[in-house]
Amino acid sequence: MKTITILIPAYNEEAVIVPMYERLKIVCATLPDYAFQFLFVNDGSSDGTINKIKQFKQVDQRVQYIDLSRNFGKEIAMLAGFDHAAGDATIIIDADLQQPPELFSEMLEWWEAGYDDVYAIRKAREGETWFKKWASKKYYQLLQKIAKEKIHPQAGDFRLLDKKCVQALITLREQERYTKGMYGWIGFKKKEIAYVAEPRGAGESKWKFSELVKLALDGITSYSTVPLKIWSIIGFVISFFAFAYLLFELVKTLLFGIETAGYASIIAGVLFIGGIQLISLGVIGEYLGRVFIETKERPLYFIQEYSEEKEEEEEEKN
Ligand code: UDP
Ligand code: MG
Repeated sequence: MKTITILIPAYNEEAVIVPMYERLKIVCATLPDYAFQFLFVNDGSSDGTINKIKQFKQVDQRVQYIDLSRNFGKEIAMLAGFDHAAGDATIIIDADLQQPPELFSEMLEWWEAGYDDVYAIRKAREGETWFKKWASKKYYQLLQKIAKEKIHPQAGDFRLLDKKCVQALITLREQERYTKGMYGWIGFKKKEIAYVAEPRGAGESKWKFSELVKLALDGITSYSTVPLKIWSIIGFVISFFAFAYLLFELVKTLLFGIETAGYASIIAGVLFIGGIQLISLGVIGEYLGRVFIETKERPLYFIQEYSEEKEEEEEEKN
């Protein structure tokens, strides 16, 4: 029998994790050909999420959990899950019931048909502000243009990954993770299916605007060096115009003699070039900062408690 790991990152999901688990159980009962492993990753929740998960574990052997030492963010929480996913395939699903577990059967069918990465794309978004929708649409359009790997705008982390893909993903251990780009980068056979996103079961979206901006910047700077290269083009264009202007001034002076004017144009030129230089320095700083963070080679997360480890220890004692 093939085993399937259901990977559920959860951060302050106390209100929704019980209905989520109930629905998971119902769906998995309709798929008797597979053995399931429910792997909850508690990403440093400050509410009672971990207690709820421990209660599931007491009555259900299939439940496992990783309790991280603090909140590391969803990208890292997923990595912690990948590191401990034992299944022949792993399905990642959010804890907030926005993604229907009912899609598992379709994912598994495609997996059995030979696909390694079956990802679900959102057809419509409910319960989100127009600004978030608009900003995310524009952002993905930009990312598509400048990134080398294809990143599907509506494809999130809701997907089935074959063991091969999981093994590949855990070898990528960068600090500033942008997993959405990694799925494309690792390759393997991909299949797209569609679903309609539901509003959150309860609680609030955990993303603050500033975090979304950070994720967006990570997306661009991890997958593209265009922002670095763009400055040589801008520099080239500016020097071209500056040179043309110089010729113009030279000819004018030769033909008509010197006027007193010139102060305004010098100041304008100096400020303009100064601004451009500061921006380009900022871009280089952005990349340098990433290099700095990566060179520290810190571990990506720490585990407070891993349910399976505890069991092994107890077995050793007995
Ligand atoms: N999440 C997490 N760590 C975080 C933020 C979120 O593990 O720091 C989990 C969260 O519990 C949920 C999933 O990631 O299961 C998606 O989060 P959310 O629903 O807040 O994001 P959105 O659906 O708005 O993109
Ligand atoms: Mg959500």
